[in-house]
Amino acid sequence: MPKIADTIEHDVIIVGGGLAGCRAAVEISRLKPDADVAVVAKTHPIRSHSVAAQGGIAATLKNVDDLDSWEAHAFDTVKGSDYLADQDAVELLAREAPNVVIDLEHMGVLFSRLPDGRIAQRAFGGHSHKRTCYAADKTGHAILHELVNNLRRCGVRVYDEWYVMRPIVEDGEAKGVVMYHILDGELRAVRAKVVMLATGGYGRVFNTTSNDFASTGDGLAMAAIAGVPLQDMEFVQFHPTGLYPVGVLISEAVRGEGAYLINGEGDRFMANYAPSRMELAPRDITSRAIALEIRAGRGIHADGSPGGPFVYLDLRHMGREKIMSRIPFCWEEAHRLLAIDAAIEPMPVRPTAHYSMGGIPVDTQGRVRKGPEGFIEGLFAAGETACVSVHGANRLGSNSLLECVVYGKLTGAAIARYLDDRKQPDFDPTPYLEDARDTLQSLLDARGSYRIGEVRQAFQDCMSQHCGVFRTESLMREGLEQVERAIAQAEQVYLDDKGTVWNTELIEALELKNLMRVGQMILSSALERRESRGAHAREDYPDRDDANFLKHTLAYYSPTGIDIRYRPVTITRFEPKERKY
Ligand SMILES: Cc1cc2nc3c(=O)[nH]c(=O)nc-3n(C[C@H](O)[C@H](O)[C@H](O)COP(=O)(O)OP(=O)(O)OC[C@H]3O[C@@H](n4cnc5c(N)ncnc54)[C@H](O)[C@@H]3O)c2cc1C
Repeated sequence: MPKIADTIEHDVIIVGGGLAGCRAAVEISRLKPDADVAVVAKTHPIRSHSVAAQGGIAATLKNVDDLDSWEAHAFDTVKGSDYLADQDAVELLAREAPNVVIDLEHMGVLFSRLPDGRIAQRAFGGHSHKRTCYAADKTGHAILHELVNNLRRCGVRVYDEWYVMRPIVEDGEAKGVVMYHILDGELRAVRAKVVMLATGGYGRVFNTTSNDFASTGDGLAMAAIAGVPLQDMEFVQFHPTGLYPVGVLISEAVRGEGAYLINGEGDRFMANYAPSRMELAPRDITSRAIALEIRAGRGIHADGSPGGPFVYLDLRHMGREKIMSRIPFCWEEAHRLLAIDAAIEPMPVRPTAHYSMGGIPVDTQGRVRKGPEGFIEGLFAAGETACVSVHGANRLGSNSLLECVVYGKLTGAAIARYLDDRKQPDFDPTPYLEDARDTLQSLLDARGSYRIGEVRQAFQDCMSQHCGVFRTESLMREGLEQVERAIAQAEQVYLDDKGTVWNTELIEALELKNLMRVGQMILSSALERRESRGAHAREDYPDRDDANFLKHTLAYYSPTGIDIRYRPVTITRFEPKERKY
């Protein structure tokens, strides 16, 4: 039986030890050294998905291209978003970018260099200038390690391998969280003046993804159950180059450094889809191009014959030396997983679920919205789990690490100010702890007939098939029915492990429930958006419809159904126009 222990108190509890959570913690501690800040993560912070980021972080340092400007970065981002991004948030992102990158370097992040010693910058999809800073193709690794070291320097308390089960929200005010220690089954409530969610994305909703096993959308599901609407959940990014068949990411940096996409007829087919940008078109366009080539029978089979399920990413003309110095990790991945030497053989690739454009709606200070108007007291969010919204309907590569760092910092600063007038909230933790214990115990006692892995696989297959790169009304309706059946099955599972010491099966059962709620929110939001915009491509509504859908979706969860509402998009400098590359 999970045991209940004493309640803990902190000024701030940050759920998530990735780039967004860590950057916020550092900022609060810098501005308010006396604040008692804690970070809780279900993995060790260093194992957050941020560590896997490869290609880089965008900022107009102008080290390689002095014609670049923050305005150009902002325009590229808004155009990439298919005009759904909030332009005030994008302006802040682009203006702050050079400052946050220099600040990271001062913290100790080792960026790759130009021969004269300045930070190197490379080309990336949808960016009109070479502005992506990088550490070879291990950029997330370089940044996250330094940030976690800085947590220790700032005296931030870290609870690693604790699973947060829910935030405590009473009368529109966040007061703390309930968390479960994976090591020994201890349950604790944390009382805090501020709760910040930085729990990352939900790639595991799909059967093929570039994401970590821990990217299960917990923060999204928890927030939704607590009454927070989720914004723009229909916009799921499929990255064009997932290694076939595993789905592991081959960074866009590989194309940024000059690799080609080739179909079964040996053609660089991007010439037919984005002639001016070719392989460096934005991801939504490139993923659709690959899916269409495969559908038209111009894919490739494992034996090299035409008509198969993937296309080639061809690096051979780049030469071994450039491959090994600029993108060594991608070479290693293909070698390790498929025994391919990319210097002499092309890699098989196809789109893989990669990134969540939507999420918990926040303003530019990270305050969580409770609807079109107003905020929830004491609750903040940043990073991939949040939707501020700088990516709108489609994110540009290397803008997400940037978002985590810029909005992690701005949210941290806003929290530091907020603490001045905030008292420690009052609540009785007992009912929350007992409820959490009952949830866990009923899973341990369950005598159903389904295994977790079986229900999860069926659900992930359904999402990939019914809400993938291309969508239609009937496909999605059928998908939603199947997800509802999977939710019912998840009530009838059984676990082999009945213990409370390091019971990963129990954690997987909790994560599965979150995944399925997120899947329901994605499908319900996607069904209502009867247009095609960015990553949301409806074959039954192939055009963008600004008159009816230039607005953000807000999806409200309830056990009986999902209610869809909308809020306006903020447009400051760039009037929506047709998006061509
Ligand atoms: C393979 C890959 C490569 C990428 N490359 C790039 C790139 O080159 N450039 C770019 O800009 N973007 C890239 N991205 C996207 C970018 O890395 C992510 O969007 C970003 O790192 C997300 O950071 P985060 O802090 O929001 O969340 P994460 O880094 O995912 O961290 C989430 C944290 O929340 C914790 N957590 C989650 N649920 C719970 C819970 N219930 N209880 C307790 N803790 C919880 C986790 O343990 C973890 O610490 C890439 C993504 C992938 C998958």
